[in-house]
Amino acid sequence: MQIEGKKERILLGPGPSNVHSRVLRALSSPLLGHLDPDFINIMQETMSFLRLTFKTSNPLTIAFSGTGSAGMESCLVNLLEPGDRVVIGINGFFGERMREMALRAGAEVREVAAPWGSPLDPGDLTTALREKKTKLLAVVQGETSTGILQPLDELGRLAHEQGALILVDAAASLGGCLLETDFWELDACYSGSQKALSCPPGLAPATFNPRAEEAIRNRRHKVQSWYLDVSLIQDYWTSGRLYHHTAPVSMLFALREALRLVQEEGLEKRIQRHRENSQALRCGLAVLGLKGLSRDEAFFLPTIVPIRIPEGFDDGEVRGRLRKDWGIEIGGGLGELRGKIWRVGLMGEGSTRKNVRTILHSLADVLGKCGWPEKAEDALAVTDDFYRDLDDVAAKAG
Ligand SMILES: *Cc1c(COP(=O)(O)O)cnc(C)c1O
Repeated sequence: MQIEGKKERILLGPGPSNVHSRVLRALSSPLLGHLDPDFINIMQETMSFLRLTFKTSNPLTIAFSGTGSAGMESCLVNLLEPGDRVVIGINGFFGERMREMALRAGAEVREVAAPWGSPLDPGDLTTALREKKTKLLAVVQGETSTGILQPLDELGRLAHEQGALILVDAAASLGGCLLETDFWELDACYSGSQKALSCPPGLAPATFNPRAEEAIRNRRHKVQSWYLDVSLIQDYWTSGRLYHHTAPVSMLFALREALRLVQEEGLEKRIQRHRENSQALRCGLAVLGLKGLSRDEAFFLPTIVPIRIPEGFDDGEVRGRLRKDWGIEIGGGLGELRGKIWRVGLMGEGSTRKNVRTILHSLADVLGKCGWPEKAEDALAVTDDFYRDLDDVAAKAG
């Protein structure tokens, strides 16, 4: 019998990304009880690794049982109460998801929009914060739907000047992009395990600073979600070790191993690797005559490279051929970009020079069969030059 998923795929979509063999091995470790002291030690170690990855000293740094969206929902329902005002930056699919969740939590949502493919304007966010007393500013750092990286360094201060907290979605950026939770004064931040952290999907790392903890403690009403109530989950992860729900033990084995790999590589080196490989891919794609979504390099997300689908090419057919002929998965567009772009993910283990070459080669092959004139060799020559220059600079730096 063919086991589903037995055939290996190169996962170059917006997640899940391929995982290291050590993470796969961790998943097959014998189970422990979720209140076993040995397992509690593993949770402690996971929390320490998460603090290093988030660059924070926040005691309340945990992983929610659930995917990135569970992290999003938990943060929103704990930080917002019915009637609270929230300013949400929306320049893509995941900002829209935040709005939907905040509305369901009964919050008053003030939307600050930017075109899909552009960053949010800090001036617009400030204006919205100044209009009225606001509890929370929520923004996405890495908009996976558009490949835009939102600068965050001044947003924490902007929010605090207006008496608001700031919440950041780092689902597609944690472990692949610079994120300074403490230095940038981010009050709460969540991610997902299956993107730049290269762990299977199923956990949502998150961190809350003392200011966010206080806001949760001072709530007038109970959080409407029992499962995602941070105060209850905190009692399990930290102080009392009180049973709340059964932790997904195997997933935590895997996450600890994935985070250990992040530390072994070094966070800075890892971020640099993501930046370099995405730059190399963008250079190669330009030689192939393929266009990105936006032009402003300063806001390019290092984990996702969007490609405008050229006129006359069928989205599904090209992705299908990549999968069948090459064993490669790339992503399609979401929301208003559906059928208009492809998205190549270079996340975690997937962000390699080899994968950059492979996707350029395979994409040129698939498009070439449908008459696209540009050749893979020319693109590969340019990316090879790009890497050679990087190596020269690194060698000179010693
Ligand atoms: C993937 C993603 C999410 C949602 O994560 P799931 O694991 O799919 O639930 C949220 N925000 C961003 C920016 C993402 O890329």
